[in-house]
Amino acid sequence: MEKLVIIGSGPAGFTAAIYAARANLQPLLLAGMLPGGLLTQTTEVENFPGFPEGVNGFELMFKMQQQAERFGTRIEMEQVEKVDLTDINCKKIFLAGGNVIEAESVIVATGAQPRWLGLESEEHLKNHGVSACAVCDAAFFRDKNVVVIGGGDSAMEDAMALTNFAAKVTVIHRRNELRASKIMAERALNNEKINFIWNATVIEVLGEDHVTGVKIRNVETGEEQIVACDGMFVALGHIPATEIFKEQLELDEHGFIKLEASSSRTNIAGVFAAGDCADPVYRQAIHAAGMGCRAALDAEHYLRNR
Ligand code: NDP
Repeated sequence: MEKLVIIGSGPAGFTAAIYAARANLQPLLLAGMLPGGLLTQTTEVENFPGFPEGVNGFELMFKMQQQAERFGTRIEMEQVEKVDLTDINCKKIFLAGGNVIEAESVIVATGAQPRWLGLESEEHLKNHGVSACAVCDAAFFRDKNVVVIGGGDSAMEDAMALTNFAAKVTVIHRRNELRASKIMAERALNNEKINFIWNATVIEVLGEDHVTGVKIRNVETGEEQIVACDGMFVALGHIPATEIFKEQLELDEHGFIKLEASSSRTNIAGVFAAGDCADPVYRQAIHAAGMGCRAALDAEHYLRNR
């Protein structure tokens, strides 16, 4: 039986693996279909400490993988199909290929995907003006015009973060009322750099090799309009990859794994969670890495006291 299995290979999973391997827990990391997680889909990462010139997302994840392997982490490119975490002494992990892995403890670090509009033009212009991370990319839009899509707390936070750089920020929301908390909504509504277009959805992102505007349609009148802009920030919420855990782990209403206060402990003893799958608010690589460290230390403590 494995002492510790880590599910997921983003910054949370690899950081947990580095700490667990250095604590001699010989972790097995199941890397899934997208080894390296979301960062491998970005280009330059400029906000990860230790890289003053920035670092390519793929390279950063490859370095984390090498560091985890250096201390004895075993990595398998396996997809987890289902889990049975109910037996306190033996958690079972069923792999897509048919094998079953048994473990004393598990760290879930399966991440989350941003929800996109699903337009072909949006896909085409990702990393060329289309972004789902204002914290990461706002600085690229100094004195430019940007639009933010969505009406929740993320959209308000992104819009406000963008005002530090952009000349003008336009929030486009599909209803005439924000979903965001009152305080966040008021802050954004009172910010003179932010204006709002209500009852509208984006039907096309315009531009050949970079964003030049968005075509929007009023959901009530059907009227179409072009809004010129240099960037589009999509803030439609995130979809945590927690489907296979939902019958066993306690999740919040958006599907994020609930943690015991100030720890990585889930509602099941010996099962810990780290990174974006358990983080509805910050969703940053460095924060996920910190959560991975915490989960490894919690798992080590749990195994020692068993
Ligand atoms: P939410 O689910 O709260 O909001 C998503 C927004 O996107 C909604 O306004 C929704 O519209 C809109 N939307 C969804 N799909 C589409 C679509 N296909 N086309 C157009 N619009 C769409 O997600 P958030 O990420 O904003 O927030 C998630 C959770 O995290 C919340 O609990 C939030 O409070 C929390 N959070 C807290 C923060 C803080 O406290 N600082 C910061 C960020 C998040 P509609 O309203 O019509 O459904």
